[in-house]
Amino acid sequence: MTDDVASNLRRINESIAAATQTSGRQAGDTTLIAVSKGQVDSRLDDALAAGQRVFGENRIQEAQNHWVARRAERSDLELHLIGPLQTNKVRDAVELFDVIQTLDRPKLADRLAAAFDRAGLERDCFVQINTGEEPQKAGIWPDAADQFIAYCRAAGLPVVGLMCIPPLSEAPAPHFALLRTIAERNGVSGLSMGMSADFETAITLGATHVRVGTGVFGARLVV
Ligand SMILES: *Cc1c(COP(=O)(O)O)cnc(C)c1O
Repeated sequence: MTDDVASNLRRINESIAAATQTSGRQAGDTTLIAVSKGQVDSRLDDALAAGQRVFGENRIQEAQNHWVARRAERSDLELHLIGPLQTNKVRDAVELFDVIQTLDRPKLADRLAAAFDRAGLERDCFVQINTGEEPQKAGIWPDAADQFIAYCRAAGLPVVGLMCIPPLSEAPAPHFALLRTIAERNGVSGLSMGMSADFETAITLGATHVRVGTGVFGARLVV
């Protein structure tokens, strides 16, 4: 990992391509989400100059600071919300983000559905699964996933994928495999899994989206 965003991106895209090929998947099956939380503006511009167009953010306000003006300048950005979403921020989130990856409770599903109706639009949604059943972490527990996905669909939300953040202290592969199992039995095709340390493992287990922060941008200034 260096601060040279362009060469980091080149290296990570090469690793993604290699992992995709060795696991017998099609080139382009996995989208790199460059996680820009905690990064200075110059690094975002370096990534844009290097051709990166898909970004992830954890917090609404920081995401607005990073992306509102840049989005106005270019129509080809794709922004993913990958951090917790409070219901009083739903309207802002729907305005800025193309994809909401942290759908994790019925009340949020209801608010998102209402916000889509009000704005006359839809955003792709991923349901966040707490594969490690960690009490302090967001996400639906695995044994409640099927029911919650059905709830979201009944509310009219386009559930296009599942997302997980495995426990820091455990090998990630079993968590990625569990996420895939839940997705397959619910007919969900998107799998957002894998970060800087484990995105190659995630790709071999079927990730359609990997979320890479420090590996792309270098160390975060703000966490
Ligand atoms: C910060 C964050 C990432 C990126 O983590 P890195 O280790 O910097 O790659 C990915 N996913 C989520 C949900 C995050 O909060």
